Amino acid sequence: GFKCGIVGLPNVGKSTLFNALTKTAQAQAANYPFCTIEPNTGEVAVPDPRMRKLADIAKSKELIPTRISFVDIAGLVRGASKGEGLGNKFLANIREVDATVHVLRCFEDDDITHVEGRINPVGDAETIETELMLADLESLERRTEQTRKRAASKDKESVSLLPVMDAALKLLQDGKPVRTLLPTLDAEEKLILQGLNLLTAHPVLYVCNVAEGDAVSGNAHTKAVEAMAKAQGAETVVISAAIESEVAQLPEEEAKEFLEALGLHEAGLDQLIRAGYRLLDLITYFTVGPKETRAWTIPRGTKAPGAAGVIHTDFERGFIRAFTIAYDDYIAFGGETGAKEAGKARDEGKEYVVQDGDVIHFRFNT
Ligand code: GDP
Repeated sequence: GFKCGIVGLPNVGKSTLFNALTKTAQAQAANYPFCTIEPNTGEVAVPDPRMRKLADIAKSKELIPTRISFVDIAGLVRGASKGEGLGNKFLANIREVDATVHVLRCFEDDDITHVEGRINPVGDAETIETELMLADLESLERRTEQTRKRAASKDKESVSLLPVMDAALKLLQDGKPVRTLLPTLDAEEKLILQGLNLLTAHPVLYVCNVAEGDAVSGNAHTKAVEAMAKAQGAETVVISAAIESEVAQLPEEEAKEFLEALGLHEAGLDQLIRAGYRLLDLITYFTVGPKETRAWTIPRGTKAPGAAGVIHTDFERGFIRAFTIAYDDYIAFGGETGAKEAGKARDEGKEYVVQDGDVIHFRFNT
């Protein structure tokens, strides 16, 4: 599955937030058999209001949402890259994630120590980023030397690795995270970069943890984070971990009332889950029938056979066609039959790039 790693300085609210996610996962687990919970990983359903509408039209008995995982990556402090706490376990955890959720403390509370002695989320973001960049720089410098030697003696793999490594190295030496390289790379180079397992190569999302009273409109600290994030082209989610941990314990109806009383439209965790989904550049397609309406996750740009393979590898191997209706057409024409009559059902082949919201029946050979 797809994983977002939660990072941040100590005492910013990571565990509080992660526990709220896990509670949500536990609550969901009763309804969705695929939600699993491990000590540092919470797998949660991605909320998607489109599912209810599809299920109502198709009279589906069950709704099965798609899921993403959040991994709690504790242990990052200033000086971490010099061996102060950046242990092997930490490195292993952060290397296996696809995106980074960076939690920043935007609440004042004199009783809770800030490791740097002051509330300064933009400074904290820089502290963490610096540690990750230093760790990347060190590991890359070591590896590039070897790769350069091998490339000089015409080793094929090294010849293709070297330009990407050099570009990443140059950025790090200039004090920039490796992810800023991503927009300039083609698909093959992106794969090479991923294979380098660098800590600053993941896309980032900032989470501002605020006091209960600031959950609706944020505060001066969240504004500062938003400005920083905007300059990086990153998203920000304002959340009160304290509120979320309460909401996660309430039944759905009560949770709704509780949130409304606070002036919130939806749980911050739902916003976070969706933002994580966008960050991973994932899209959803649906399979819809009387038995179930089910959401499936694929990376944007996936072609029909690859999308079929998410359901079952046999679907990919024996792929023939993808009978496809866009979500809006499915709704507008009252379901499959109506959409078909209106000429909105398409028989797509191997080269079709699946779009977000597509309702698909795969035809395949067994
Ligand atoms: P972590 O070290 O980043 O995992 O932080 P924790 O989640 O353990 O939180 C550190 C302390 O801050 C705990 O005592 C939390 O109860 C408290 N805390 C977390 N979020 C908030 C918040 O929004 N407001 C206040 N006042 N305290 C919070």
